[in-house]
Amino acid sequence: MDYQAILQRIFYETRPMFTQGKVADYIPALASIDPSRYGISVVSIDQSAYHIGDAHIPFSIQSISKVFSFTLAYKHRGDDIWNRIGKESSGTAFNSLIQLEYENGIPRNPFINAGAIVVADILLDIFPDPLQEMLRFVRQLAGDATIHYNPVVAASERIYGHRNLALAHFMKSFGNIHHDVDQVLEIYFHQCAIEMTSSQLATAFLYLANNGINPQDGVQILDSSRAKRLKALMLTTGLYNESSEFAFRVGMPGKSGVGGGIAALIPDLLSMVVWSPPLNSMGNSVVGFEALERFTTYLGKSVF
Ligand code: GLN
Repeated sequence: MDYQAILQRIFYETRPMFTQGKVADYIPALASIDPSRYGISVVSIDQSAYHIGDAHIPFSIQSISKVFSFTLAYKHRGDDIWNRIGKESSGTAFNSLIQLEYENGIPRNPFINAGAIVVADILLDIFPDPLQEMLRFVRQLAGDATIHYNPVVAASERIYGHRNLALAHFMKSFGNIHHDVDQVLEIYFHQCAIEMTSSQLATAFLYLANNGINPQDGVQILDSSRAKRLKALMLTTGLYNESSEFAFRVGMPGKSGVGGGIAALIPDLLSMVVWSPPLNSMGNSVVGFEALERFTTYLGKSVF
C-alpha cells in the first residue's frame, strides 16, 4: 500500500479546511498557535513510518494523554477501576459537570476530564512520583527521551483550570477523589502539557495497534484483553460526544485533544496522528477528522 501517496492526497485536499475551525483559546499558549500548522504521521506495526507536513513540530497533546494515564492505571489496577469510573459515552462536553451530580461523582468514562482526573488520583496510589512515571512511560512508548512537559502550558492550565478544579472538588465531595485535589490536578494539568510531534505520538500508540505489545522493544504494555477493551473505549468515547460520528465516518478507535491532535489506529496494521489546531464545536480537530475519514476511505480499510 502506498501510504505516502495517500498522505499526499489527503494533505492537499484537506489543508484549506483549517479555516472552518477555531483554535482552543482557554489558555494563551494554545490561543497563539499558528492555525495553519498541519502534520500527519502514519507508523505501521513493522515500524515503517510515513510523514507529511509539520510532522516533526511538537504540539500540546492535551487529552490524548488520557490514553497513556489510563493505560498505566489499568495495567496496575485492572478491573477495580470500574468501581470509580464508568465505560459509557457521556453525550456531554468533555468538561461537563452535569452528569456528576445525579451519578454520584462517578464519571461516565476515563476520557472525559472528570474520568481522567479520577485516573490521576488512582496514579497517586500506585506511584510515588506519578509525573516522573508518566514521562518515563511516554518516552519509553515513543522511544524518545527528549519528550517533556511544557511548564508554561502546565502553569496556564492551573491558572485557567476553574472547571477542572470544580470537577475535582465536586467528585471529592462524593468520595471519588482520595488525595488532595491540588496534588491530583498537578498531575492532570501536566499530562495535558506534554508536547510531542505527530511522529512521536504515532509511534507511542503502536502498542495499541499491536495487541498491547510495543513492537519496538517487544515489551508487553497491556495484556491483549485490556488492550482490546481500551480500544473499545477509544472507539466509543475517545472523541467525546462526537465518538459515534467518528466511528461512523472514520471507523478507527481514536483519541483527540484540544491541541488539535487526533491519534487513531487500525489493529494489527498501523497507528497514525493528524495535527491541525483549529477545532470544531465539540473540541475535535476539523482537519484531523476530515483527514482520518479520507485515510480509511482511500485505504479501503477500517476496523469494520
Ligand atoms: N486541558 C484541557 C482541559 O482540561 C484538555 C481537554 C481536551 O483536550 N479535550 O480542559
